[in-house]
Amino acid sequence: MKILIEKNSLLKHIPWFYHPENPGRVKIIMNALSKTSFRDHVLYVEKSADLSDVLSILERIHCRKYIEFVLDRASKAPCELDPDTYLSRDSLELLIETISLVYETASSLRSNNTVFLIIRPPGHHAGKCGKAFRAPTLGFCVFNNAAIAIEALRDNGFNRITVLDFDIHHGNGTQEIYYKDPTVLHVDLHRNPIDFYPFTGFPEQIGSGRGRGYSINFILEPGSGDDSYSFMLNLVSEIIELYSPEAIVVSAGFDGFLDDGLADTMLTEHTYYNIGKLLRKLNLPTLLVLEGGYSIGLKRGVPALVYGALGIKKEYEPSRTEKTIYRQNVEYAKKLYNHILKYLKK
Ligand SMILES: [Zn+2]
Repeated sequence: MKILIEKNSLLKHIPWFYHPENPGRVKIIMNALSKTSFRDHVLYVEKSADLSDVLSILERIHCRKYIEFVLDRASKAPCELDPDTYLSRDSLELLIETISLVYETASSLRSNNTVFLIIRPPGHHAGKCGKAFRAPTLGFCVFNNAAIAIEALRDNGFNRITVLDFDIHHGNGTQEIYYKDPTVLHVDLHRNPIDFYPFTGFPEQIGSGRGRGYSINFILEPGSGDDSYSFMLNLVSEIIELYSPEAIVVSAGFDGFLDDGLADTMLTEHTYYNIGKLLRKLNLPTLLVLEGGYSIGLKRGVPALVYGALGIKKEYEPSRTEKTIYRQNVEYAKKLYNHILKYLKK
């Protein structure tokens, strides 16, 4: 496993007002990783690229009108794309570098290797033409990094791909892009969107047309702990094995961690370690791209995930969900699992 930190994510795309999505996030990860036993797996990367190098990749994912909108706004930066999403003067440079880095890294994935890309800004809320499934904003995202990875894998002969999105917010952008596509199985675990951003990703949203059954949304109630997550991860593992993908793209968000700041779930190292273990068990070419996570989730969740993925033994005590909430989580998850099986077994 390699962990690649994009150097310029420390230096570019900087908010000029308080905003949780800022270069300090990468510093938190760097500090946390420097104290681990796997620090020699960490590399710093820089990639020079310009717009003409990445435009053809972007056009496969996003509509021309949206790309033009972003380029136009970027030329007027500093400015905001919407109340959540900013562009500083050098944001476009970092966006281009990130696209190029994701594409190149995914293209070089070979059997059984795993790469974790520490990049900014996140991407999973960016849909085909911007805001996805009528979400109110782009949620700090501009271009969809997970989709760029998927396209790169396809260009290199991988035909069945699973996206595992464990950011605490629904990956509505990625899901919208592949909603009708059975060659991408999108499994997303997130906080119940009934009263939580981006207000999309209900269990009933299972894909459409030929893609019906290939979008899977597990939801967690407020106050959910590691025990609830563990239950769902076992089902996720079965679902992914049943689908039998050739490669995995992971939207890795750590904002579900207890007190990370943007959510009300109570996940701890236990969950992120188990996600790492699951990736290890699946043993497929795997690219993780950083999505959310703003404080303690990055500090403690990122190392725990890597320990799990490397097979280094750790004991983490699971946080417990209050009983009625736990039952509710399990009931939703079982119902969804049974519903989805009939499509996946076809
Ligand atoms: Zn998030």
